[in-house]
Amino acid sequence: MRIRQILAGEKGLSRTDVIGAVSFVCKMTKEELLRDIDSRLDEATLNAVKDCLGERRAGKPLAYITGVKEFFSESFFVSPDVLIPRPETEILVEEALKIIGTGGNRVSVLDMGTGSGAIGIIVAKHAGSSVVCVDISAAALRVASKNARSIGVAGRTRFVCSDLFGAIKEGPGFDVILANLPYVAASEWEDLMADVRQYEPRGALYGGQRGVEVYERFVRDLPGRMKSGGHVLLEIGSSAQAEEIGGMLKGIGLTVNVKKDYSGTERVLVGHG
Ligand code: GLN
Repeated sequence: MRIRQILAGEKGLSRTDVIGAVSFVCKMTKEELLRDIDSRLDEATLNAVKDCLGERRAGKPLAYITGVKEFFSESFFVSPDVLIPRPETEILVEEALKIIGTGGNRVSVLDMGTGSGAIGIIVAKHAGSSVVCVDISAAALRVASKNARSIGVAGRTRFVCSDLFGAIKEGPGFDVILANLPYVAASEWEDLMADVRQYEPRGALYGGQRGVEVYERFVRDLPGRMKSGGHVLLEIGSSAQAEEIGGMLKGIGLTVNVKKDYSGTERVLVGHG
């Protein structure tokens, strides 16, 4: 069978998914695949493609099938132990890079709830900062440190297994604290896409009954960890959370700005102390 026939014959899935699955199995880039669209696949390759497409049809996210996801133009390893990096999280990274500016090697950064490491690793790479990446999941940290090595920032990143600040030794030593903690509320759980609900780690998504409980605990410990004059950047999910979590930041004396994502949703809180 030719690649072109597979693309034309797969009705149930998006073209992006099918191209992604075929290029993964054939170890080709998408550009190579489209250039060689009339080449034939041998039977073993075709069977492997069919297996991937079957998994995708069952709902498994493409990134968990291929084991990689692009974020900020870098390729990140992912596994079901980590959330798949989201395009909207690039907003937080862009804001962090603006704040850190040049001279990032003198800025100490903490990435709380690092997951695949996407946020902290990109900041280490682009700003040149030293980044402590924290997660409660040891399995997630294994994925993150593999990413740090493959993206070339192992020397500037450190990985710590900790429930929020619990096991962090540094005192009020961080200039910039970044966090994409779980913020989905119980009432929103059923509204998540089925693929997300069934395959992505619940611990990285579910923020408690009200959705803000993890951020509440985080903000409680923040004053002892952030240098005065420092910044905290939090990913959030709604205007209601911008109010509620923004209020918590104001409560500890920070000034707060809200950034929207490209779909107009309040997505990042920037607190400045
Ligand atoms: N934006 C994510 C989602 O729904 C939630 C991420 C999070 O809780 N930090 O899919």
